[in-house]
Amino acid sequence: MILKAAWVLPIVGPPIRDGVVRVDGQRIAEVGSVATLPPGGEAVTDLGAAVLLPGLINAHTHLELTCYAGRFGPAPFWDWLRRLAALRAARGQVEREQQGVCDGAWQSLQAGVTCVGDISRRSLNWQVLKSIPIRKVCYIELLSLADDPPRDPAELRAAVEEVEEDELLTAGITPHAPYTVPAAQIQAALAIAAERKRPWCTHWAETREERAFLLGDDRALPGYLRDLLAQCQLRSPGLSAIDLLERCAEGVHAGALAHFNYAQPGDAERLAAAGHTVVYCPRAHRFFGHPPHPYRELMNTGVAVAVGTDSVASNDSLAVLEELRFMHRELPDPPRAEALLEMVTTRAARALGLHEQVGSLEPGKLADLAAFPCPPDSVDPASELVSRAPAPVGVWVAGRPIIAGDIP
Ligand SMILES: [Zn+2]
Repeated sequence: MILKAAWVLPIVGPPIRDGVVRVDGQRIAEVGSVATLPPGGEAVTDLGAAVLLPGLINAHTHLELTCYAGRFGPAPFWDWLRRLAALRAARGQVEREQQGVCDGAWQSLQAGVTCVGDISRRSLNWQVLKSIPIRKVCYIELLSLADDPPRDPAELRAAVEEVEEDELLTAGITPHAPYTVPAAQIQAALAIAAERKRPWCTHWAETREERAFLLGDDRALPGYLRDLLAQCQLRSPGLSAIDLLERCAEGVHAGALAHFNYAQPGDAERLAAAGHTVVYCPRAHRFFGHPPHPYRELMNTGVAVAVGTDSVASNDSLAVLEELRFMHRELPDPPRAEALLEMVTTRAARALGLHEQVGSLEPGKLADLAAFPCPPDSVDPASELVSRAPAPVGVWVAGRPIIAGDIP
């Protein structure tokens, strides 16, 4: 199969005008321009006025919460969390959230997202996503104060061992956060990730109250949470977020840290040295009213920053391109469009531990692709794509067409 488009964006190289991507089975065989295409041979699918790039990657989401879309207005994080917990506890949770996973996966594909890093509380995600042709890291979540397993490392190990991985499905590990999982259990969870050579992620440095709690203020978290934490003997470790992280992740491969909204001086250097990826969720960040995210400082210090959507319980959609448009339009002095696109391709792939397989257009990589319309007189495809965030005209996963919009 040869796909031809007005522009091809390999991400790891300059844009190619009148570009082509030759796909052989599941993989990319060749990336070049029409001018270098050998004559004759395979039929060419001409996508016309379109920009063809690697399928987009959402590095942090909770698809099971898709069923709560539109139920919340912008709110402080702790108020939102409490209301979300109440909504989730209503009768029929499993069926409702299974449908959420399914709907969320298809909404992602329809937005040109070919790969998700998805977190599920009760391992619902992999069971539903297994039959949906989207690439996924299904993170199994350890939450010590939960009513359902996994609540400790042994239950986590059992849940991870149950995951039926395949070419599109990788099991991942996620201790929820340092205020809901004791340090020793976070350490044990990451040790399981290291032993099984699987990606890990966690929510870290998300709120001011979390920071104060970690440093020693047991009363920093809201009352409803304090009672729960007391029940499972969860106490402040008396460490800064970065000290605790280094202690928990010692000897373990780099992982993905969702949010890291409240970085302290010196944190960026230590994150960069460890090679962790920070996943910034721009619209969810605004939803919760946090002060400006330190992504610029992190990037300037050499930290890989990826972009995710979090869930639609705190966001408008699962379209990562809309996150980039938001950054491009709403943030002061945003990165240039090419750097923004890296956050949902190469850097997001690294966050999920899939950077050798996907995230750029290079021979040998898997043919996860997305094509978006561009103006007929397009001159700056990356900027046009980021500023318009259109719906895709074509989406392929491992060389297989999944969404075919207006392809002639
Ligand atoms: Zn999250």
